[in-house]
Amino acid sequence: MHELSIVMNILNTVEDNAQKHKAKEIKEIELEVGLLSGVEFSALDFALNNAPKSHIFQKTQFKVLKIQALAKCNDCLNEFETSNYATPCPRCQSIKTTLIKGNELRIKSFSFD
Ligand SMILES: [Zn+2]
Repeated sequence: MHELSIVMNILNTVEDNAQKHKAKEIKEIELEVGLLSGVEFSALDFALNNAPKSHIFQKTQFKVLKIQALAKCNDCLNEFETSNYATPCPRCQSIKTTLIKGNELRIKSFSFD
């Protein structure tokens, strides 16, 4: 399961950081997940709740922020919201567009005690 390995990576990253700060428990982890990241949100929720976790995550609240995808037209520089990788520019109909937001999956922040 793809989402489970993503979650394990996230937990490892946060735990490494937490150890550097001598944290006892992680209170909250905020994730930013683009709508075009390929992540299944229900599977991600399930993985966050069910992944094997070390004790520092026992009371952790997970917040998943969905990021709307944004593309930019290479011809007229118009920026527009999109729901897939290959939407023509709504202003000039150019197909030379670049996705500038919406495929990310990152830890936005976390807080600890
Ligand atoms: Zn355009």
